Amino acid sequence: MARYDYDFFVIGGGSGGVRAARLAASLGKRVAIAEEYRYGGTCVIRGCVPKKLLVYASQFPEHFEDSAGFGWTVGETSFDWKTLIANKDREIARLEGLYRKGLEGAGAEVIAARAELADAHTIRLVGENRLVTAEQILIATGGRPNPHNALPGHELCITSNEAFHLDELPRSILIGGGGYIAVEFANIFHGLGADVTLLYRGKEILSRFDMDMRHGVHEAMEAKGIRIICHEVLDRVERTPAGRLLAHMRGGESTVVDQVMFAIGRIPNTEGLGLEAAGVETDHAGAVVVDEYQRTNVPHIWAVGDVTNRVQLTPVAIHESMCLIETAFKNNPTKPDHDTIATAVFSQPEIGTVGLSEDDAAKRFDELAIYRASFRPMRHTLSGRQEKMIMKLVVEAATRRVLGAHVLGPDAGELAQVLGIAVKAGLTKDDFDRTMAVHPSAAEELVTMYQPTYRVKNGQRVG
Ligand code: NDP
Repeated sequence: MARYDYDFFVIGGGSGGVRAARLAASLGKRVAIAEEYRYGGTCVIRGCVPKKLLVYASQFPEHFEDSAGFGWTVGETSFDWKTLIANKDREIARLEGLYRKGLEGAGAEVIAARAELADAHTIRLVGENRLVTAEQILIATGGRPNPHNALPGHELCITSNEAFHLDELPRSILIGGGGYIAVEFANIFHGLGADVTLLYRGKEILSRFDMDMRHGVHEAMEAKGIRIICHEVLDRVERTPAGRLLAHMRGGESTVVDQVMFAIGRIPNTEGLGLEAAGVETDHAGAVVVDEYQRTNVPHIWAVGDVTNRVQLTPVAIHESMCLIETAFKNNPTKPDHDTIATAVFSQPEIGTVGLSEDDAAKRFDELAIYRASFRPMRHTLSGRQEKMIMKLVVEAATRRVLGAHVLGPDAGELAQVLGIAVKAGLTKDDFDRTMAVHPSAAEELVTMYQPTYRVKNGQRVG
């Protein structure tokens, strides 16, 4: 008779939890996974996937405009928000079904309930009013948008969660924040026809990215008609008698809009999870603390993904789960590799990036060679669009190793995936130079920038 009901119990049915449960079940372990909302988690239900569908939707007006230079006449166009949202919801439901099917096919028990820890081996299934036990437990409960509770009037505002389910497209929206979500949604709403203001507290949006990408996307967004206000935050939000929102900024300016949205980071989902009862440690932000093998301070309890508040990206959570399965069930201790992660911002134009920004590289290396090209992509020669594409390689002068590769422009996210292999492999600029160009393409610029644009020595730009 087994000592526990399950070998492995997973709390949270997002990208990380589902992958771990599926892999453990396919190894023949007795696995259960509990999810209180919908299988698929942030990425599938209210994050990456629906976001990308909305990005596609928002790009059509520019495609229609650009087609004129190629001889097309596009008739009258119109956009229906409800159709988009209904089609998006249908696709999300299909993907959710696939997630469940994958779990069941692997032999995991799929539980539709909230799970909380009653002690270090016992899980309470809320609503089902029962307790189950497990030898090992994985916390993969993800995170949620910061609702900015400190702001008077925050209850009138939305986050990305609600943005996917608005009854109608707002005619005007103010978005607070300057990270991935704020910038992506500013472009989405603008492309769909809304009047958009982006409010960022710092000097330049997208603080984690290379400065050329940040300036480039800022300029391009402003050229499209998005209003970007930096060095500014909201002071309070009020409802107007007409039912709209009056947003007051600290600097004294105010504006009336249909919606105010916050995208100011995400909070780990750990409240009420019974972590204290199980003795699991959390940090000042409420994130579960794990060691380099994803193990919490309680040796048989693990955590992956956004609930650990390290790198909040779907592929990272999945990778962490795959490593965890090696460590916990295959006698092959494996640490996740968080170094040199390629990523994309699905802004318009897109940013694709991997490795170090120029500023970060300058802090770590004595001398850099910077290769940078800024050009109008071929497609815009006939469309007449003025938008520039920027490509940049940050190279360590002493070793010629490419430390960072950054692209702003069409399909930059796709390019980042391929550049990610080269930069992760530690290839040098000479390897890039030896690579034959694919012609005619925009990407060929990455292998034809033969002379450095400038150098950086001891943090100072020279030459
Ligand atoms: P980010 O961490 O990317 O950005 C948060 C932004 O909010 C920053 O500009 C930050 O400013 C600002 N901010 C933080 N606190 C406050 C405050 N109190 N008042 C005003 N501004 C504030 O978070 P997001 O919410 O945009 O996204 C969450 C995570 O989701 C991202 O970190 C990313 O990992 C993931 N994600 C990935 C996507 C992708 O891969 N394409 C898409 C969407 C999300 P400052 O820069 O000054 O700190």
